[in-house]
Amino acid sequence: MSALAGLLEAIVAEARPQAARGTVARYIPALARVPADRFGIAVVELDGSVHASGDAHERFSIQSIAKLFSVTQALRAIGEGIFLRVGREPSGTAFNSLVQLEVERGIPRNPFLNAGALVVADVLLGAREAAFDELLAFIRERAGSGTIDVDREVLDSERATGFRNAALANFLRSFGNLTHGIDAVLAFYFAQCSIAMNCVELARSALFLANRGVCPRTGERVLTPSQCKRVNALMLTCGTYDAAGDFAYEVGLPAKSGVGGGIVAVIPERLAIAVWSPPLDPKGNSLAGSFALERFTTHTGWSIF
Ligand code: GLU
Repeated sequence: MSALAGLLEAIVAEARPQAARGTVARYIPALARVPADRFGIAVVELDGSVHASGDAHERFSIQSIAKLFSVTQALRAIGEGIFLRVGREPSGTAFNSLVQLEVERGIPRNPFLNAGALVVADVLLGAREAAFDELLAFIRERAGSGTIDVDREVLDSERATGFRNAALANFLRSFGNLTHGIDAVLAFYFAQCSIAMNCVELARSALFLANRGVCPRTGERVLTPSQCKRVNALMLTCGTYDAAGDFAYEVGLPAKSGVGGGIVAVIPERLAIAVWSPPLDPKGNSLAGSFALERFTTHTGWSIF
């Protein structure tokens, strides 16, 4: 067993019990049914080496982690223009809050808020013929796995309960910051939230962010080095809900989390790491997953600081 694999085993043993202090997301019924005791962790290095432990090969709903891929696609499609319609400041409010959007006249604080992701969806719908299929193809290509797909049960659940997202979309439209129909934007958004991946796939798919924008598996340039820096900066400052400051303090890595209990983080020039444990802390980040990442950076001494 490699030293890294041994470290991951030790982290799983230490982190798994932490999950008991968290709560699985219940506002999307399909997520409430996921067994709370699952715990997976995977590291993929730039040379492709994989180190994994626990339930690292079981797929789960990536939820807001999809926002990382959609903002990447939007940057590829229209570049800096997206920042005329969405900001890049931490919000200090919940990811699905309506209040700030009203006060700030329909310009979401950042692309990782639900409102920001709805604007990004609108950008992609305008820039691409088959926008969602292209997003899915992009994720499959980055992960090296053609079977990654939408989880239909989660999708139905999102559609049936996404009233707050519908409210956000209506708000955005009323301020003129959506150009497509609300139903089309929501359909794109719900579908991206419902994509299922496992920890190994997730870590591998984020490797271009650890490699100055080049996918190390295919050699393809996904983002320019400058765009890559910017996406990492967004992850660090806005990627873990309104706990991004605490997360940077504890873990010290650019990361993106989702309410399915996944978190993906990158260590530039070295590796990407993904964890999954469904119970969340009050801000919406995986409780044991955040704990595990703190252990990882503390044990290895690898962080961006
Ligand atoms: N589908 C979830 C929602 O729209 C995503 C939330 C998240 O993972 O942050 O509320």
